[in-house]
Amino acid sequence: MSVFALRCRQCGELVDIPGRFGFKLKNAGVDSTICQGCRQKKFLTDRDRAKADTNQQETVRRRWIPVMAGTIAAIAIATGLIIQRQSMPQPPPQDTSSEADFSR
Ligand SMILES: [Zn+2]
Repeated sequence: MSVFALRCRQCGELVDIPGRFGFKLKNAGVDSTICQGCRQKKFLTDRDRAKADTNQQETVRRRWIPVMAGTIAAIAIATGLIIQRQSMPQPPPQDTSSEADFSR
């Protein structure tokens, strides 16, 4: 079985690729690949970046939760105050009508 040797795209090190796979790569016009070491390095950096991204998103979310809770509480209090102020001056009309019905 013949072995194809391709150059690593990152460090230029020769990478041995077993015959059939190397033949396919050469037919596809690929003449450079990534060696094991560079692939591992790339994988690690990608993973670290993804982890950092998720951490940032989580801190942003944690920062937003109190703001959202405060906004919701303010809206609830405002709505309660408005309803109280509207119902305070005149008593509900059902009481007077039922009293009138009883007096008859
Ligand atoms: Zn390499």
